[in-house]
Amino acid sequence: MIQSDPSNAALSLDHRQFRNDEFWQIIPAWKDVTHDQFGDHLWQAKNSVKRLSEVKDVLGDRVSDELMNDIDAGLKIAPMNIRITPYVFSLMDWDNPVNDPLRKQFLPIASQMLPDHPYYLADSLYEDVDSPVPMLTHRYPDKVLFLPLTTCPVYCSYCTRSRIIGGSTESVEKETYGANMERTEEAFQYIANNPCIEDVVISGGDAFNMTAKHIEFIGNRLLEIDHVRRLRYATKGIAILPQKILTDDRWVEAFFNVHRRGRELGKQVVIHTHFSSPREITEWSRRAMDRLFAESVIVRNQAVLQEGVNSETDVMIRLTKKMSYMNIQPYYVYVHDMVPGCEHLRTSLAEAVELEKQVRGCTAGFNTPTFVCDAPGGGGKRHVSSYEHYDQENGISVWRAPNVKPDELFLYFDPLYKLSADSQARWNDATQRENMVNHAIHSVDLKLTQDQRQKISKRLESAYHQPK
Ligand code: SF4
Repeated sequence: MIQSDPSNAALSLDHRQFRNDEFWQIIPAWKDVTHDQFGDHLWQAKNSVKRLSEVKDVLGDRVSDELMNDIDAGLKIAPMNIRITPYVFSLMDWDNPVNDPLRKQFLPIASQMLPDHPYYLADSLYEDVDSPVPMLTHRYPDKVLFLPLTTCPVYCSYCTRSRIIGGSTESVEKETYGANMERTEEAFQYIANNPCIEDVVISGGDAFNMTAKHIEFIGNRLLEIDHVRRLRYATKGIAILPQKILTDDRWVEAFFNVHRRGRELGKQVVIHTHFSSPREITEWSRRAMDRLFAESVIVRNQAVLQEGVNSETDVMIRLTKKMSYMNIQPYYVYVHDMVPGCEHLRTSLAEAVELEKQVRGCTAGFNTPTFVCDAPGGGGKRHVSSYEHYDQENGISVWRAPNVKPDELFLYFDPLYKLSADSQARWNDATQRENMVNHAIHSVDLKLTQDQRQKISKRLESAYHQPK
């Protein structure tokens, strides 16, 4: 539940404390691991937890059979595999794993998972629909999203790209690929042939999993295109494997080379990272940021709002202030996308609007994240308060995106567990469900032609009127 008095969190100086103990030694398998070993990114990668059996190997008697069975059942239905660096694994609270915000993000347990919303979408943001060539999504006029690989150093339970990231699971078949120079050519050609494009997000997957050679190759190819002005490498790495910034000199130098070349050309090369909990931040994170800051690298953060992870005001304020303190700009907080396997992590839109109110004013505006709903169906990021209509009783919000798809409407649905018993009963009835959606759409007073209305209805029917 969101707290209504954020003043203590806003005034507290706790955000200046960075954990600097040997916290990993509490894990039985790592009790003799030294500071230097733990600080080596190769040791981190080699000892990452990738299988259920490894959870037991690492924790020994510290994990109960009951929890192991719960994780086992969770992995059978989750769309993401597990991969957890020792850094994150040992920051989890193994005395209270069920309620731990880090465990919730990376290690699903069946007892907390809920059935997907009837109108969930595997590709909620229409990244595949708005894709003119493989690996590229072109939605905003001057920006593209480039996805050259599908692997990451950790796999997040809340991943919006669970349909393609991290290899097949028991419930989802996926193709997995690392960055491959030949496969990227079509994307470069598309960008070069579209002079509107100024901004390229290089994501995936995670840029941490690209080799130094790929970092430079992709960065330099894009910088060579005259009209490309801004590159953003997207990586969760600083949050879950800061040791790579500190010890993988080849990778870091490759990034710095692209960054320097960008500066020579008058172009921005930045990093977008992905902290969602202040518990992910330690002295390792601060030292990693010091190295990037010394080279004038701009780092921005995109957090995902998750129930029981960062949905409380004091947690979100601490996250915001802690990141600002180590020179990361809190950029976005996303309302959780309507993707499978995540219903238990979603909040209502009303909670996001309230949380935004509570956080705003705790620090300077440029360090205050913008809370957005990435409108399902490819409407793009919309400020949480900018909906056209919100039926809070039934959890249905309607959105427009005039600069992206001017003739369309987009719908976001709150998770059913947040609704009243009466509303949940209505959602269980197919006819009432459809009526509620139609009523919400028609509540938006738009001066649309008959043709435009038909187009909107057709798309919404195919996307939402066939419950998955
Ligand atoms: S790091 Fe990003 S792309 Fe990779 S699993 Fe997490 S959310 Fe998905």
